[in-house]
Amino acid sequence: MARAVGFFRAIYRLHRTEAAVLLVWRDSGFDLVVPAQKVSGVSVRFDLAGGDLPAGSRLVGSMHSHGGFTAYASSIDEDDEAELEALHIVVGDFDRRRLGYSAAIVVDCTRFRLRRASSSSGLGVSPSHPTTGCRR
Ligand SMILES: [Zn+2]
Repeated sequence: MARAVGFFRAIYRLHRTEAAVLLVWRDSGFDLVVPAQKVSGVSVRFDLAGGDLPAGSRLVGSMHSHGGFTAYASSIDEDDEAELEALHIVVGDFDRRRLGYSAAIVVDCTRFRLRRASSSSGLGVSPSHPTTGCRR
């Protein structure tokens, strides 16, 4: 996670834009891939059809930054997430002392929003809604 956040912070400092990385499983471990992407201060777009994934890797998640804005899944983010059954993380508040995080998992076309763990209850998971356009 630190590598992804460091990348997001560097891009935000240099360009004041969002950025995205992909989480892949490769050679018995997790790794990050930075896809070719088009970014602005309020958006990031990439196309997985471009062959950005290394051979032998499996895409298991996506992460993107919201720069200085709050970390949450916008309706566009939710639509994008629906296309991939995986873990999805948004990082934001890069101008604040503490970063903000938002996370969800899409499984079997249902999006589960992950809530921050409390000391007694552990990680909270709640289904938010069935996604549309889910590819299996
Ligand atoms: Zn977003």
